[in-house]
This record gives sequence, structure tokens and C-alpha cells, in this order.
Amino acid sequence: MILPIVAYGATVLRKVCKPIEANYEGLGKLIEDMWETMYESNGVGLAAPQINRDIRLFVMDSAQIFANSEPEDEAYSDAPGIKRAFINPQIIETGGKEWIYNEGCLSIPKIREDVSRPESVTLAYLDEQFKEHTETFHGITARIIMHEYDHIEGKLFIDYIKPLKKKLLQGKLNDISKGKMRVDYKMTLGK
Ligand code: ZN
Repeated sequence: MILPIVAYGATVLRKVCKPIEANYEGLGKLIEDMWETMYESNGVGLAAPQINRDIRLFVMDSAQIFANSEPEDEAYSDAPGIKRAFINPQIIETGGKEWIYNEGCLSIPKIREDVSRPESVTLAYLDEQFKEHTETFHGITARIIMHEYDHIEGKLFIDYIKPLKKKLLQGKLNDISKGKMRVDYKMTLGK
């Protein structure tokens, strides 16, 4: 089932999300719906608050990026990418040289900005069977993970933009929060 994506301005996007238990009702179906919703909207990642749940869960698929690009620089060191669901993730550490990438977000349509992030991230998380993992990710995969992880901490990529630039974006952001935008996927304004 395709779920509507919560637009910028909703309070759920600013919440520090809560961990979930293995018996969380309908978790399997929820993750399945998140995959479907992410692919339908051409996203490479989707976090639970973006579908109006304040829980520590996100899905991502960096393999989609490699399917359409030549692995040429350090940003693509993680080829061929991964597809994975992360439950109750915690960042253990970040590392490597910071690099800039032009990011976007399904909750903030039609806005893209350069964001600087570390090259790698080490994460402790549970898989769909609630098995524990600690793993280090690099390149684009690490970037998507850090973007989605920010979501479950109530943070958005535009928070990294310099104040002057953010001021210039304010009109567009206000429009999004009022539903005044055209997107080819289903969105909801939330509260
Ligand atoms: Zn996002």
C-alpha cells in the first residue's frame, strides 16, 4: 500500500523518534508499505516520521543510484550499494573526510541543496528479524543512512544550510507546509 508522505511543516518531522519492540503491531506490513512508497516516489530512502510514525525505523536503497551512474570517484566507493531496513539504529561513530553532495528529500519536494557530511558511518541496528548488527557504511550509502537517521532525530537536511540561503528558501518552504506544491506522489500536511 502506498502511504502519503508527510510534507515539511508537520510536527512529526521534528520529533526524536522512539525505539520499537519486536512485537510492534503490523511491522512487516509497515516496512513493505514503506518500500512501496519509497519506490513509487522515486526516493532512495524513507524514514518512519515521513509516513507519520514517530518510531526509529527507516528503509533505504543506494543500489538505485549505481544503476544509473558510472562509479568514478570516492563518493562511489560503496558500489553497488545496498537495500536495507534499519530498526532502532544508533550511530556509533562517523569518520573519513567530509564531502558535499546535492541532497533532496521527499518531504521537501523541489528543493535541493549541497550538504557536507562525513564519508563513513558506523551504526548499531536491528534487522527485520530483530537480529543485532554493527556495521560501517561508506560513500553514498553512508550519506543516505545519515540523512534518514537525521529524520528519526527530528532533523532535516535544510537545517545544514547557511541562514542567508535558508532565508531565500523560506517562501518555498512556507508553500510546501501549506500544500502549495505540485508533486507526482501522494503527500499529506499532517499537524
Ligand atoms: Zn528526507
